[in-house]
Amino acid sequence: MKTLSLRARLTLFYSTILTVILAVFGFLFYDALGLVLENKLTAELRDRVVYLAAFQRLQAGEARLVFNPNDRREAYLVQSAARYYQVFQLPSGLLLVQSQELEMMGARLSPEEVRALAGAQEFTDLQLETERLRFHNAVITGNNATSFLVRVGIPLTPADEAQRGFLRSLLFLMPLGVLVSALAGWQMARRALNPLAQLAAAARKIDIEKLQQRLPTRGTGDEVDEVAAAFNETLARLENSVGQMKQFTASISHELRTPLTTLRGEAEIALLQASSVEDYRHALTSQLEEFNKLSHMINQLLILASAEAGEIQWMERSVDLSGLVGSLVDQLEPVAAAKKITLETNTPPNINVRGDASWIERVILNLLDNAIKFSSEGGHVRVSVKAEDGDAVLRVADTGMGIQAEALPHIFERFYRAEPSRSKQIEGVGLGLSLVKWIVDRHRGRIQVESQVGKGSCFTVWLPLASASAGR
Ligand code: ADP
Repeated sequence: MKTLSLRARLTLFYSTILTVILAVFGFLFYDALGLVLENKLTAELRDRVVYLAAFQRLQAGEARLVFNPNDRREAYLVQSAARYYQVFQLPSGLLLVQSQELEMMGARLSPEEVRALAGAQEFTDLQLETERLRFHNAVITGNNATSFLVRVGIPLTPADEAQRGFLRSLLFLMPLGVLVSALAGWQMARRALNPLAQLAAAARKIDIEKLQQRLPTRGTGDEVDEVAAAFNETLARLENSVGQMKQFTASISHELRTPLTTLRGEAEIALLQASSVEDYRHALTSQLEEFNKLSHMINQLLILASAEAGEIQWMERSVDLSGLVGSLVDQLEPVAAAKKITLETNTPPNINVRGDASWIERVILNLLDNAIKFSSEGGHVRVSVKAEDGDAVLRVADTGMGIQAEALPHIFERFYRAEPSRSKQIEGVGLGLSLVKWIVDRHRGRIQVESQVGKGSCFTVWLPLASASAGR
C-alpha cells in the first residue's frame, strides 16, 4: 500500500486530534449542560412544592387546593404550580386529586406503585410518550392521622431540548470545524513543506559533475535551513572525497604508467640488442627492480583499500614501543649507512602503548624510511621515544630536504608527493604518510609535522600509553 504523503499525514493527524478534542469536550459539555438544567428545574420544583403546601387542604377521602379565585395572580400561580399534581391516600393508594394535564397524559398509578413511591426517594422521573417529568414525592400526614402521597411534577423537556439543540449544533459544527481546520492545515502543511520541495528540486539538479553546487538557504535559521546546511556540509565532504578519488585515479594511472613504460622499454631493448645470456640477465635484473617497486606500491594500495573498507585484522594489546623502535632502527641501520646517514636513538626502555604491534611497526618504518629517503649523504636521523602526560611521544627528526609550507597540509593525503621529491624522482608513491595517519587515528593518537626547507623535518606521533589507556 502506498504510504500517504507527509502533507496528507500531517493534515490527517491534526484533523484527527481536533475531532477527538471536539468530541471529548462536546460530550463533557453536553453532559454538564443536561445536569445544570435539570438541577435548575429540580430547584424550581422544590419552590413549587413549598408554594403549593400553603394551599393544600388534606383530609380523609379528600384533597383540595384552596385559594382565592378572585386573586388572579394567586390563582395563576397555584394553577401553574399544580399543572402536574397528584394526591393519593395511603396506604390504600386511592387517587384523590389529579391535575388535568396528568389526566390527559394518562399518568395513572396502581396502588402498589403509589405505596412503593411513598417509601421511595424524594424525586422520581417519569418518561411519558410526549414528555419526561420529574416528580417530587412527599408523604404528608393530614387530620385523623391519615397519610397522603403528594406528587408535584415539572417537565424536564426544556433540559432535554437544550441538550438536543446543543447536540444538533455540535454534530453540524464539528464536521464543519474539522473540515475548515483540515483545509487550513492542508494549506499550512503545503506552505511549511514548500521549501522542502524546493530543496528536493535543487538537490536533484546536483550530480557528481556539479558537486561544487550548494543548496540555497533562506537565512531564516529554521529546520529547513538546517537540513539545507547539513546537506551542504555533506556535499562539501563529498566534493572533497570525490576530488581525492579523482586525484587518486589520476595519480595511480600515472604511477603505474611510469614503471610499466620502463619495463616495456627495457624488454624491447633487450629483445633488440641483447646478444648474450649476460645481457638478458642484466635486463631481467633491472626489470626485477621495477617489479619490486610495482609490487610494493600495489601492496600499499591494498593495505589502504582494506583499511578503508574496515577489513583490517586488529589485535589490541600492550606494545613495547621502545623495543620496537630499537629493533627497527637496527634493521634500517644498513640502509642508512649505505647513504652515509647516521641513525641516532634515544629510547628509554619500557614505554608501552596500547595497540597493534604490526601496525605501529608500519608507522615507525614509514617515518624512518622517509627520513632516510629524503636526507642526503652525511645527514642525521634522530629517533626518540618518551612518556609525557599519559602519551608515548615518538619523534623522528632528520636533517633532510624539508617540506615547503604550502605542501605541509597535504602530505598526509593519498598519492600526494611534495614537489622536490616528485621532480627529483625520489622513490615512492605518496601512500606512506596517509597510511601512517590512518593508523595513528585508529590508535586514538595524533601526528604532527614541523619542517623547514633545506634544514629538515620532524614528525611527532602521540599514542596513548598502555597503562593510561587501560584505565580509560
Ligand atoms: P612517499 O614517501 O612514497 O613519497 P609519503 O606519503 O610517505 O609518500 O610522503 C608524502 C610526501 O611527503 C613525500 O613525497 C615527501 O614530499 C614528503 N615527505 C615525507 N616525509 C618527508 C621527510 N622526512 N622529509 C621531506 N619530505 C618528506
